[in-house]
Amino acid sequence: MKIFNNIDITKLKSGLSKTRNKLFNSITEVFTGKAQIDENMLLQLEEILVSADIGYRLVDQIVEQFRIKLKTEKDRSEINVIRVLKDELTNIFDFTAEERSDYNNLDRKPYVILVVGVNGVGKTTTIGKLAYNYKQTGAKVIVGAADTFRAAAGEQLDIWAGRAGAEMIQRNSGADPSSVAFETVSRALQEEYDVALIDTAGRLHSKSSLMNELNKIKRAINKVLPGAPHETYLILDASIGQNALIQAQEFSKVTDISGLIITKLDGTAKGGTVFQICNDQKIPIKYIGIGEKISDLQPFNAEVFVDAIFGKDLQE
Ligand code: GDP
Ligand code: MG
Repeated sequence: MKIFNNIDITKLKSGLSKTRNKLFNSITEVFTGKAQIDENMLLQLEEILVSADIGYRLVDQIVEQFRIKLKTEKDRSEINVIRVLKDELTNIFDFTAEERSDYNNLDRKPYVILVVGVNGVGKTTTIGKLAYNYKQTGAKVIVGAADTFRAAAGEQLDIWAGRAGAEMIQRNSGADPSSVAFETVSRALQEEYDVALIDTAGRLHSKSSLMNELNKIKRAINKVLPGAPHETYLILDASIGQNALIQAQEFSKVTDISGLIITKLDGTAKGGTVFQICNDQKIPIKYIGIGEKISDLQPFNAEVFVDAIFGKDLQE
């Protein structure tokens, strides 16, 4: 069975318009009418990239590449500088190239996806979007409300499951999250579901309790289905910039993360955070959220993403 592939470039571009406009306007302001990009302009470009949340370390690497690849001032035309910039940003995701080719195959059934992240980043919404997209491919989908901490969390997931046309497993609030996960995967196995998505609570009150809770959930899932969960997706909210990077670092310390989903790219000019997080964590970005609607989730593709931010207009 194929995972969905619904990349819509027009929608992506409009979703990324805040980030795009910020970068585009500042870069054009510096470059317009200049045949060559001098040192001073490179410094300005450096500042623009840093202010777009791409991060100092990464910006340093990129500027270094300008010096290596575009040795003389003559080489430093606007087109060349933008080309090197786009190449460098795309290359950050290179380590995922191999991995990307096989995540298209959902050969394990049920395919169990655990969704983690702090409160408010968009876990429940993203599960609704994932469920919807899988359903569109004809998959049988079940979701488990293992965020039993707040009663409202289950209700919210129920609404999304309804919209998506997915089944849902829920218990009373305060129930053990791992028992909900256990029940969801058991049901998925017995009734031959293709995909099981498990929501979790986002409390980060202490690192050890988070670690214990996530590990307990994973053990419960693995007891029903050895090898599961097949994916643990960490959801990060792009609009919080640097803090998203910190959350990625913290979650990686407590549990294995197989993929990232970056949400709320539509509401922010901090889209550059995506590059920084991936460069720092070397965890593949699987999907990006570009709106609140059920159809506003797209698989992540590095070239398409970089193009949508830097657009061809900058090269002409
Ligand atoms: P959770 O606490 O991690 O489960 O987060 P929720 O799923 O409840 O989402 C928190 C808020 O973020 C909700 O108001 C969502 O509508 C909003 N949200 C989630 N993803 C996106 C996105 O990609 N774009 C926008 N603009 N809002 C989003
Ligand atoms: Mg939630």
